[in-house]
Amino acid sequence: TQTTTQATSQTAQSEALFARARAVTPGGVNSPVRAFKSVGGTPRFIREAHGAYLTDADGTRYIDYIGSWGPMILGHNHPAVREAVADALQFGTSFGAPGEREVELAELVTRLTGTDKVRFTSSGTEATMSALRLARGFTGRKLIVKFRGNYHGHADGLLVEAGSGLMTNLDGALGESAPSSAGVPEEYAALTLVSEYNDPAALDTLMAERGAEVAAVIFEPVVGNAGVLIPTPEFLAALHRVQGMGALLIADEVMTGFRLSLNGATGLLGLKPDLTCWGKIIGGGLPVGAYGGRGDVMDFVSPQGPVYQAGTLSGNPLAMAAGLATLRTLEADAGIYGRLESYTSQLADGLKTLAAGAGVAISVNQIGSMLTPFFQGAPHGSVRDYAQAARSDTQGFGRWFQGLLSRGIYWAPSQFESIFVSASHTGAELDATLEAARAAFADLNQ
Ligand code: PLP
Repeated sequence: TQTTTQATSQTAQSEALFARARAVTPGGVNSPVRAFKSVGGTPRFIREAHGAYLTDADGTRYIDYIGSWGPMILGHNHPAVREAVADALQFGTSFGAPGEREVELAELVTRLTGTDKVRFTSSGTEATMSALRLARGFTGRKLIVKFRGNYHGHADGLLVEAGSGLMTNLDGALGESAPSSAGVPEEYAALTLVSEYNDPAALDTLMAERGAEVAAVIFEPVVGNAGVLIPTPEFLAALHRVQGMGALLIADEVMTGFRLSLNGATGLLGLKPDLTCWGKIIGGGLPVGAYGGRGDVMDFVSPQGPVYQAGTLSGNPLAMAAGLATLRTLEADAGIYGRLESYTSQLADGLKTLAAGAGVAISVNQIGSMLTPFFQGAPHGSVRDYAQAARSDTQGFGRWFQGLLSRGIYWAPSQFESIFVSASHTGAELDATLEAARAAFADLNQ
């Protein structure tokens, strides 16, 4: 296989497709970060994806560090997943009635994550939205607490001080509950209280004041959507204290689930959430989300309980097949998480050395196969919250991103995102990436 990077100025096909797309789709894309708005340039329209590589409409190959924003932990078009989907396809694409694969995936997910019951949805957004409704229905309380710069999908009540593509819109003070999007009524946003990630005292104070009204505290156990932020043990302890106040603790593992370990960040960090949300890897690249947890809480979901939640395509047989093949492959390969960690920590070390050599200030956060180089001079590993992440030089990052892209490396097109390494990335891709990164850092001095 070809592993060398390719220089390209060939974007004619992507430009033509982008022009057509803009005429018929807002901004030309079906999800905002894909438009390259914060880094500039033409978004590449992708024709195909195999292993660690993407090929765009102009035929240029890239080493991919987005992995469809997380799902492709095995690499693109993995044979086990492709064959499972092809096999399922022979028997029909949607039944609107229960089938065996849903039972199998639910059994596998509950076993791997130590949860009692799980309900499948078709996206991570639906999972978090439904988990909050469930928490409100179970506790009879109205308020939820989230953390600034955490992103939990685009349900109205969660578009408050949200991260990811909204990171550039954040300007409210803590507790202020400013909507991050037009169309979210202030009255609705007021039901979402905002605290600061990795600030146990702020959470304790908020809960002391309003705790009796709080149905749930939802959080990213390792943040990917403000760039990578790693929680402190003190913050995790404060999160667990809310359970003593009758609020449910909801771990949003849409990004970290099955990525940081077979039991996600929950397993890695010793968390004890009441409910957990999944997405991305659980569907192996097809549209799946899920929420699950304590049986007494989950039994409040319809048709067993009074909290309504449904989906025409929920438990879709093709999507279940892709999820099953992905999780089974992960479980069967005992060394996989070690190899992902090894690749990513070598990438982190390489970036630190190369940036220092070029006199470019970066602060790298890395855990497992997630990594963000914040373009700022703070010591490595010390960026801990939204405010500090936001001090990054987004213009410098944007130029570095373009330097990588022009050398065949497809990095996340925003400073405030994690990259995702897959099991298809090998030493050859690592060497090629670091070679391109060296040149991209050098570009910044010109
Ligand atoms: N929660 C987290 C932590 C996410 O990272 C995302 C998406 O990136 C979501 C929820 C929403 O998932 P989806 O895009 O599948 O609706």
